[in-house]
Amino acid sequence: MSARPTSLPRAGVPFLDVEGLHATIRSELDVAWQRVLAGGQFIMGAELAAFEEEFARYCEVQHCIGVGNGLDALTLILRALDIGPGDEVIVPSMTFIATWLAVSEAGAVPVPVEPVEGGFNIDPRGVEARITPRTRAIMPVHLYGQPADMVALAAVAKRHGLALIEDAAQAHGARHGGRRVGSLGTAAGFSFYPGKNLGALGDGGAVVTSDRALAERVRRLRNYGSSRKYVHEEQGVNSRLDELQAALLRVKLRHLDEWNAARRRAVARYRSALSGSSVIVPADAPSAESVWHLFVARSSKRDALQAHLASHGVQSVIHYPVPPHLQGAYRQCGWAQGSLPRTERLSAEVLSLPMGPTLAAAQIEAVAAAVLSFVDDRPADRPAR
Ligand SMILES: *Cc1c(COP(=O)(O)O)cnc(C)c1O
Repeated sequence: MSARPTSLPRAGVPFLDVEGLHATIRSELDVAWQRVLAGGQFIMGAELAAFEEEFARYCEVQHCIGVGNGLDALTLILRALDIGPGDEVIVPSMTFIATWLAVSEAGAVPVPVEPVEGGFNIDPRGVEARITPRTRAIMPVHLYGQPADMVALAAVAKRHGLALIEDAAQAHGARHGGRRVGSLGTAAGFSFYPGKNLGALGDGGAVVTSDRALAERVRRLRNYGSSRKYVHEEQGVNSRLDELQAALLRVKLRHLDEWNAARRRAVARYRSALSGSSVIVPADAPSAESVWHLFVARSSKRDALQAHLASHGVQSVIHYPVPPHLQGAYRQCGWAQGSLPRTERLSAEVLSLPMGPTLAAAQIEAVAAAVLSFVDDRPADRPAR
């Protein structure tokens, strides 16, 4: 999640400019807001139904169920698949902690697997090595907007009879092998946290799937376990996407492809502006179209680089400084420092540079100039790939 530092030197480059993005569609957001206010229906109405249909079509799947947030989307998929106590779910070690929390919340055990050498996403060969008789699902994350290797993961899932659940919270609109993220497994969870590529003006999330029975179960679970008012077939939760957020998301969905294209142009500019620098810039995943939720550079002198950038008015954020297995939340699992070395090394080296659909060429030049003026920025400092 993106922290939002409060003070920024004049003419600095913000990490993410949500206000600037909203300014470009202000009149459309106003219309949506007024429509919900005038309509008087705030939960489970026409805006949600329309958004669910539009987002399902966008993801090239049959069903979409709006929920309260991305964490709930993932948890409800697991519950709908009857994954719980006694079960194991394979997750990336390199991710935002919500991926793990969803598994724990469902009552199952997250089993971490390290990223591929030289990349950020889960290693399909590592997945195969961690499968046990208790394993029920694989939950890859399309980290930073880059699709995981879904072809290899689907083959492993199929071979072992496992569900394949995409954590697509950072990858709205990305493609792998020409197909949309969200359509590549059993089901997918999305987050509409404001800083995501498709962000609400508050919390929101969605489950997408082409499995009709699974969709119906999630639909029931998100609404007190009820598909008919005051009839409760099971113990569900209250996790719904409200009308106002659905209406605002419908506006933003119409712009998503154009915004993702702008992010790709920013990446191309960064790459040429940073060539010759000692920082490692992320490569494109094979047969994938990334949506660059984050542009994550690596440096062996990350903390000094971040301080240097800050002194030049450039905001940067670390995603993520402490991996889930070393968090207090998973203390009881007894993971020692050094147990997932690739992840721990990445956590010490990653630095997310400013990114977003409104990031201007001149801002990218300013960020690159600040990186290149880093006194320790010599090729000798280049970390091993
Ligand atoms: C943001 C995020 C989530 C959780 O989404 P919320 O809407 O904040 O609950 C889950 N997984 C990943 C990878 C995320 O980045």
